[in-house]
Amino acid sequence: MLTRRSALGLLASLPLAPRAFAQPRLSYDLTAKPLADGIWMVEGATDYFSMENGGAIVNITLMKGDSGLILVDTGSSRRHGEALNTLARSLDIRGISTVVNTHHHPDHFFGNQVFADRPIHALGGTRQAALDEGDAFADNMYRLLGDWMRGTEVVPPSDVIAGGDLTLDGRDFLALPLGGHTSADLALMDRRSGTLVAGDLVFYNRAPTTPSADLPRWQQALDALQAAKPALVIPGHGPADPTGDSITQTRDYLSWLDRTLREGARAGLDMVELMETPLPDRFAGMGAQPQEYQRSVAHLFPGIEREELPRGN
Ligand SMILES: [Zn+2]
Repeated sequence: MLTRRSALGLLASLPLAPRAFAQPRLSYDLTAKPLADGIWMVEGATDYFSMENGGAIVNITLMKGDSGLILVDTGSSRRHGEALNTLARSLDIRGISTVVNTHHHPDHFFGNQVFADRPIHALGGTRQAALDEGDAFADNMYRLLGDWMRGTEVVPPSDVIAGGDLTLDGRDFLALPLGGHTSADLALMDRRSGTLVAGDLVFYNRAPTTPSADLPRWQQALDALQAAKPALVIPGHGPADPTGDSITQTRDYLSWLDRTLREGARAGLDMVELMETPLPDRFAGMGAQPQEYQRSVAHLFPGIEREELPRGN
């Protein structure tokens, strides 16, 4: 008969199980997809941050400049930034000449420290938000991604830019200083190709994230992006889009989200009941659903409930 003691002894004598399944390999497998004239996109996974993806959930854009490559957004960690640096050198031996951050969410700027000796451009509001919220984001990212984050330090963007005509390393852009996804969201239109690097103002087949969102302002930003008539949209998350459908889809989702939360508040639903609301088919298949919708309820419902409930006096 197998006693408890002998069973424990047996367990102790077993060879150590292979740990590969439990230990992620901690290396990013990045590829650069050519999209247009001197433009590549490194496409992120459409999931939420996980130990499996190491936070490589964001789209990164690389564009040819006069003295090297322009990098738009730097990834989720020092390690992610280093992998982008290596990938850039395989496209252009001179590597990355200049950097832009579209906004201050950690997956878009936590690779900055790798490029700290080069100019890192962003809107003033993005620099300030990175200074204000960077450390809190870092705590959360270390909790979500553990060893993937090792050695990552928060390096806010160094060079503040405004809207309008902008030349970066000899390449001409229209800079659109917008907001709504966060307090400051930069979109960049490449003059040569009509490619719009939209940052997280646009998500495509991946649910938009709302921890810093102002929904009416976000809708206005989408109007401005549509008015720019891009030939190709590179969303912050999801595939590149030559049709403009990504802008329409983001608008549709945000309108539906706002309407659903307002109707829920008026009907007296609580947060848990709203989180259990089934998603319409057109949104249910997006990446990171229904979790992203549930996070949005948590972010947005308390404010919307205050606006919608009749005031007692
Ligand atoms: Zn974002």
